[in-house]
Amino acid sequence: MVQTADSSTEHTKPCDRIQFRVFRGSLILVGARRVRYSVVLIPIMNPISVSLDQLRKYNVPGPRYTSYPPATHFSEEFSAPSSQPPAPSPLSLYFHLPFCARQCLYCGCTNIVTSDQGKSAEYLGCLGHEIEMRTKFIAEGSEVVQIQLGGGTPTFLLPEEIEQLGQMIRTHFPMASAIEAGAEIDPRSLTLEKVQALRNAGFNRASLGVQDTNPEVQKTIARIQPMELIAEANQWLRDSGMESINFDLIYGLPGQTVASFSKTLDDALSLSPDRFAIYSYAHIPWIKPFQQTFEEQLPDAEMKLKLLQLTIEKLTGAGYVYIGMDHFSKPDDGMAQALANGTLQRNFQGYSTHKGVDLHGFGMSAISHAGGRYFQNQKELDAYYAALDAGNLPLLRGYAMTNEDKIRYAAIMHIMCNLYIDYEKLSSEIGIDFADHFKADIASLDDLETDGLVRREPGGLHVTPLGRLFIRIVAMRFDAYLQADQRQGRYSQTV
Ligand code: SF4
Repeated sequence: MVQTADSSTEHTKPCDRIQFRVFRGSLILVGARRVRYSVVLIPIMNPISVSLDQLRKYNVPGPRYTSYPPATHFSEEFSAPSSQPPAPSPLSLYFHLPFCARQCLYCGCTNIVTSDQGKSAEYLGCLGHEIEMRTKFIAEGSEVVQIQLGGGTPTFLLPEEIEQLGQMIRTHFPMASAIEAGAEIDPRSLTLEKVQALRNAGFNRASLGVQDTNPEVQKTIARIQPMELIAEANQWLRDSGMESINFDLIYGLPGQTVASFSKTLDDALSLSPDRFAIYSYAHIPWIKPFQQTFEEQLPDAEMKLKLLQLTIEKLTGAGYVYIGMDHFSKPDDGMAQALANGTLQRNFQGYSTHKGVDLHGFGMSAISHAGGRYFQNQKELDAYYAALDAGNLPLLRGYAMTNEDKIRYAAIMHIMCNLYIDYEKLSSEIGIDFADHFKADIASLDDLETDGLVRREPGGLHVTPLGRLFIRIVAMRFDAYLQADQRQGRYSQTV
């Protein structure tokens, strides 16, 4: 049972010149008549409790909606970009840095394990080449508002290579006055020099790969990183002036129990990160055969649900705001503020604080989304290098959104990020009569409304605090491809 402030009740408590309102999961301070338009949104921090029965009921296969339609619809029959768009738009840039010194056995990423440090210099040269080619297809005057380094292991790069990459980005793209620039950090390969290089290159956010602090679990997944190492990396990043630090954790790893993961959460909370991304372990041994090594030790489905229940209750109990799906943040962090002020966006890196940006991904396997089209780069390093050597964009597959895709994308993103659809407002934004266009989809919500996940009104659809825990379930009702995709077994469980 979820016990957050109920978004279905709106009440006011006059207090001198200020009114307090609870609305759509936020505490709203509304200025008195003479202070009109003075509205502050503060996401509510009440601890959330969730029942195992609810988690069981809604644990069905479904997409993660980092794109719509999901990337499984991308095709090798596609047309590559051929001209520069006329109008500038804000840019979010992603750089995929695939090298890792060792293979973690739980990993599902597109990575390359190597002890050859020279590989990163060669890769950076090609990345520079790709950036030069791609800028021809980005409108002049477009400014960068967001940068993310992912992998693989971005901290595989030497300090001078990190600075070189920063220089390369600044040379080719104008920067907005305030940007969010983040990097995924492996504490095992971080040095003080690399932290300084990240700061010199303009990075102001870090995401630390913590995963689990239990020594036995770390041994089983072949990722040994004692708590002292994690604490030291965290301290270096804090001391360097990083504005926001995220911890990645994973539940469902081999050997995890409620007691062991509770200790992991306590360890992580003791370092007070600004954000948490807590992912469900994805077991895909047909793609990553090394995952078979610990198959016998994996927690069963019931234990995974208990670990998720524990995570939600513990983090919200510690004052973190539940953003949606895997993300939690402190109430004063930009992520919680973006949720409150309606600028949250969902893309291939999960939730993001910038809405309405064009996403351009660079490096092997990186995905771009701009101008109603998706593109993915070559997933193999040799093919990525070969395309660039031949003077071609290193694209593997793509997808051009139909008009109906764009309409449904807008609806799904509103549900995932704003937890509310104002039919009239969205109708005028996307040029349809929303209530009429989605008549059947809205009518299909009877059971979710009975279970308290959504609330329908004549003018709009609200996702309740309980529905926020099962946000993919609500979004799935607006997905035109879902039934066919589920039949083909394309998705992991929603919990
Ligand atoms: S460091 Fe990250 S990308 Fe590399 S093997 Fe480990 S989990 Fe995978």
